[in-house]
Amino acid sequence: MDAIFPLQGVTKYYDWGGYQFIAKMLLQDNPDQKPFAEYWMGTHPQGMAQVKTTAGEQWPLEKLTGQLSFLFKVLDVRSMLSIQVHPSKKSALLEFERENHLNIPLDAPFRNYKDANHKPELMVALSPFWLLHGFQDPVLLRKTLASKKPLQFLLPVFEQGGYEALYRLVMEMPQEQVAHHLREHLDTILPMYQQGQLRKEDPDFWAARAMLDFSQGEAIDRGIFSIYLFNLVHLLPGEAIFQDAGVPHAYLEGQNVEIMANSDNVLRGGLTNKHIDLGELMKHIRFEPVTPQILNAQSGDGNFETPVDDFKLAQFSFSKGEKRTFQSVTPSILLCMGGSVEVVAGSQTIGLKQGQPAALLMQGQEVILSALTEALLFQATGTIHSR
Ligand SMILES: [Zn+2]
Repeated sequence: MDAIFPLQGVTKYYDWGGYQFIAKMLLQDNPDQKPFAEYWMGTHPQGMAQVKTTAGEQWPLEKLTGQLSFLFKVLDVRSMLSIQVHPSKKSALLEFERENHLNIPLDAPFRNYKDANHKPELMVALSPFWLLHGFQDPVLLRKTLASKKPLQFLLPVFEQGGYEALYRLVMEMPQEQVAHHLREHLDTILPMYQQGQLRKEDPDFWAARAMLDFSQGEAIDRGIFSIYLFNLVHLLPGEAIFQDAGVPHAYLEGQNVEIMANSDNVLRGGLTNKHIDLGELMKHIRFEPVTPQILNAQSGDGNFETPVDDFKLAQFSFSKGEKRTFQSVTPSILLCMGGSVEVVAGSQTIGLKQGQPAALLMQGQEVILSALTEALLFQATGTIHSR
């Protein structure tokens, strides 16, 4: 039995994906400018990774590991993703069963629940990364609403009814009213955006970009309100953030690695052409302020701390010639996102670098990692379900 296997993930092409980052990681040409949005490394039925044996056979990852408790991804966000929220484990199970009872096909575009699992997410920035993350705290929110003329009408709504009333109002108002409130403001900021006068720290930058990407004719995407209600977070490479059930969020720009419970349950609230189910969204959002907690890898084991046990992610920044030795306890996925690392496991040696960045490492191995250059390595581990 092999101790380590070169692993091939599954590329997902979505409109918002970038053209170069993932293609380059895989040493693939992209002459047709396909949007390489995500690279999935896991056992999700919609994207099963493959491993190669030393005998030259190709196997689905699941054959070696059973179903993994996590899904590990690389993302390249060129244009912003939908505003979204993920259900808790308990509600995902209930809602998945409910949609099954209604005989809604799993691949129907209006199906909300693709599986019975929650989807907490941890992401680590590989580049400067911008995202929306949770409702602003009351002090900041009042300041934001007061400072933007077209949003001032929301102040009394917030004072009286809090986050839920505020969000319900902007999500349920008729389309003409969205235009009535935002049109003039967007007409002012659009030329500023186009002339490069807005900075990314300013929510107007993202509102203008969203206007160009998602609004058609007279219809203005109501998701633009959310850009002003949520925290605008800027992560530097190596910094991470955790998104638990119920925290609304949207990725705006940049590259990252992301690890999540093995699920594809997403409820959307705008900035998208995909299915939006407002009732379901409102049911699962936590209407409370969030103070973004930026996480760093712990010195020593390299782990990022999260409150869930579905997955663990560690990050190692190696200088050239640096070594690290450990015993592998469960199967894990190694991913090299810069430089070149040699992995010795049992009696086998493989190299991870551009072109072949990922490998499956089996349990019960004595492992030596050696950085042949300066290098960045991630290790994703989960809890293992029985087959
Ligand atoms: Zn998400």
